[in-house]
Amino acid sequence: MANNSDSVLQIENYIDGEFVETARYMDSVNPARGVVWAKVPDSGEEELNRAVSAAKKAFETWSKTSVQERSRCLLKMAELLESQLESFAEIESRDQGKPVSVARNVDIPRAVYNLRVFGTAILHHLEMSSFQEDFFALNYTSRLPVGVAGIICPWNLPMYLLTFKIAPALACGNTVVCKPSEMTSVTAWMLCKLCTEAGVPRGVINMVFGTGHRVGDALVRHPDVRVISFTGSTLTAEKIRLATATQCKKLSLELGGKNAAIIFDDVNLEKCIPTVTRSTFINQGEVCLCTSRIFVQRGVFDEFITKFVKSASTITVGDPDDKDTWMGALISPEHLAKVSGYVNLAKEEGATILTGDEPDRIKLNSKNAKGYFFPPTVITNVSDNSKLMQEEIFGPVVCVVPFTTEDEYGLCASIWSQNVNTVHRVARQLQVGTVWANCWLVRDLHMPFGGLKNSGVGREGLIHSVDLFTEVKTVCVQLDQPGNQ
Ligand code: NAD
Repeated sequence: MANNSDSVLQIENYIDGEFVETARYMDSVNPARGVVWAKVPDSGEEELNRAVSAAKKAFETWSKTSVQERSRCLLKMAELLESQLESFAEIESRDQGKPVSVARNVDIPRAVYNLRVFGTAILHHLEMSSFQEDFFALNYTSRLPVGVAGIICPWNLPMYLLTFKIAPALACGNTVVCKPSEMTSVTAWMLCKLCTEAGVPRGVINMVFGTGHRVGDALVRHPDVRVISFTGSTLTAEKIRLATATQCKKLSLELGGKNAAIIFDDVNLEKCIPTVTRSTFINQGEVCLCTSRIFVQRGVFDEFITKFVKSASTITVGDPDDKDTWMGALISPEHLAKVSGYVNLAKEEGATILTGDEPDRIKLNSKNAKGYFFPPTVITNVSDNSKLMQEEIFGPVVCVVPFTTEDEYGLCASIWSQNVNTVHRVARQLQVGTVWANCWLVRDLHMPFGGLKNSGVGREGLIHSVDLFTEVKTVCVQLDQPGNQ
């Protein structure tokens, strides 16, 4: 669906299997060009209520369809999405600002994979049983779908995250009402267009576009929405917890992070530098798992800095459509101001900007002159108490600091050492949901995903998504024993 980039595309809500117009629309801006490129519904409670009613009605039938039928729909959606990979990638890039190559090679293939994995493997995790010899009783569990699931997503990985939630929810027999980010709604609308052909019945998937404080809030408060899977900021999660405090609703909250890489003296720098560069700057640093602090043992500090800065300074920033572009635009002018505010603070605090501050660092063509670009920025000489070391920046900015022993720091996400003992010892100490050793973002969908502390509540990933999207019932049947009837 390669939309002429000069015309403005209008998208609609998808409710009960139909695209429906709404009274109000808002602008969606192409971040690499700084121009309005789509009109997105600015829905309210009325649209949301209609979507929940449709999902509730559809649940009566969908929850009783065979797992094979649910699987068939998800696999067909995967096939259709894969057949349109290129147009989804182009649109995702236009809507979000990421290079089209990233959308083509990471986001959309992962969305296809989400639908495939949850469409098959999850079906083997629904039942279990045991026989209790002492009571001569057969115990088994059966998993029931929860009901209508509310799905709320952020703007940084629109299709990647939406499908990560829709697929297990549907596979388990739930129906969904989704609220994508108001800043990146277009590929979610495109996904709805695949539903009819994939055989997804009316009302099983509903998409209501709009802002968080109107549609998002109404969705989380709705009493017929029994489970919420939310990915976004810690601040919004707080509001959701308060809004749902009086309801017994299942909540999964996947939130922000302040992820670190710990580099030990015995690191293999040849392997480490490209991966840490990628972990820091991919998607403009707008991934919840991006590295934001790098702790380097003193013995390798200088060599690491030299090589890392060289690597960061050769990253091409510019037009997302250009095949040579490695980093695209930040999502909005507000986000650009937030990210540059952190770098200004670093300067005020006397930190050293090792790269990012060079004039003409970003080469833009005329189309991108008004886009929201920011250079890959590496900072050192930062104090531990600085906001730069404590707060999520969510942009292409990283602080590098030396350490002598690992005890100085407790929080981290990736470990770089060739010593297997160091790896396991440090992994055990870290208070994080995922530890990568000598790699980053190698994600097996069978593994749990989620954060500790302010980074979230709950886990998603194969069996953990089943836990979220089902209620488990135990049935215990005492059988008559032979000779005792
Ligand atoms: P955000 O919290 O501002 O918005 C996320 C979604 O929540 C949007 O759809 C928004 O409209 C909606 N929303 C806003 N207010 C709401 C309310 N009161 N009730 C219900 N919904 C509401 O986050 P964002 O700026 O879109 O995304 C960036 C954040 O997401 C970062 O903090 C990032 O770390 C985090 N994130 C986390 C993960 C993860 O898996 N842990 C993945 C991606 C992004």
